[in-house]
Amino acid sequence: MPSWNQTEQEFIESLRQSQREIYKAKKILVIGGGAVGVEIAGEIAAHHAEKSVTLVHKDYGLLSPTPFTKVNEKLQKGGMDIHSYSSPPTDPRLSIDLQNLCKKLGIKTILNVRVFFPSSDKNTEVKWDGKFGLQDELVTVRLKSGDSIKADYIHCGCGMKPNSNLVGEIDQNALDGDLIRVNEYLKVNSTSKVSILNNNHYYAIGDVCSCPGFKVGHTAFASAAKTASNIINEIKGRTLSKYNPGFISGLNLPLGPNEGAGMATFGWLGTWVFGSRLTNRARGKDAGTEKYFAGRFKGDNKPDMKVDF
Ligand SMILES: Cc1cc2nc3c(=O)[nH]c(=O)nc-3n(C[C@H](O)[C@H](O)[C@H](O)COP(=O)(O)OP(=O)(O)OC[C@H]3O[C@@H](n4cnc5c(N)ncnc54)[C@H](O)[C@@H]3O)c2cc1C
Repeated sequence: MPSWNQTEQEFIESLRQSQREIYKAKKILVIGGGAVGVEIAGEIAAHHAEKSVTLVHKDYGLLSPTPFTKVNEKLQKGGMDIHSYSSPPTDPRLSIDLQNLCKKLGIKTILNVRVFFPSSDKNTEVKWDGKFGLQDELVTVRLKSGDSIKADYIHCGCGMKPNSNLVGEIDQNALDGDLIRVNEYLKVNSTSKVSILNNNHYYAIGDVCSCPGFKVGHTAFASAAKTASNIINEIKGRTLSKYNPGFISGLNLPLGPNEGAGMATFGWLGTWVFGSRLTNRARGKDAGTEKYFAGRFKGDNKPDMKVDF
């Protein structure tokens, strides 16, 4: 994975390097059937039909589906009871749809199994030393079920966490687990009375903060917009307004340029699960990279913040 402190050129080069490595590989193993693992497996399988792609996931369904009752319970509260790092509860129908799409793309999915990091099967076989990316040769990755998989490219799609080190290194009491502890205005809120982070000058937004609601793009945007308006409120001496994530949320996963599935949740109205047609419409052929990410930093589309004082 590219690191956060790379320059743009280094970042692009590391992505190209991954592409070159995937071209060379024949047997690809993706560890983790969350959004990252499913999208990567789909992307590789769609572009390289001749390669073998295997996806191993620790849960009984892709994206770890939540039973219907739990989904409804959480959604009716708009996810407000969730204060830790959490993705939206996956509707089991979405999990099944994604599994069917994997099958269609020739991806072998192995569920309910964990991988040993690093691992070897028998002494005679080449041990996997835990390194990700292109391997020097075909290695044997051992599963906790007792089975094993041979691979020459291994992608890690699990264990990703928001990086709160910047704050944690200053004050551990300003963390709630791995997240930055915030109050209802998204201001950093340490449990230590003497913390320099409690001086009311710091906000934390998006995935890395402990605000209620699911950790998705929509809530990251909402927390950014709320914080921007509260900073203006502060400058103008106005009262701050509290953050509320709202109760609409969604997920949308492209598996290559032509397939995909997603869900949109509308609080107590329920959850709508949709397929490739809508996913392609929303994300296009490039997984939405240009529309939702790179395009925002270019030319006329580059965001320009104008503040009217
Ligand atoms: C594969 C995948 C699919 C997803 N699909 C959807 C979807 O369909 N719909 C949806 O709504 N959400 C989706 N999400 C979730 C969504 O991407 C996140 O919720 C959203 O990006 C959070 O925004 P953010 O700004 O908080 O964090 P990020 O987008 O992660 O941005 C944080 C940035 O901070 C940088 N950074 C980290 N540490 C430091 C530091 N110390 N100093 C400076 N910079 C630092 C990071 O490099 C990164 O660029 C998906 C996520 C993944 C991984």
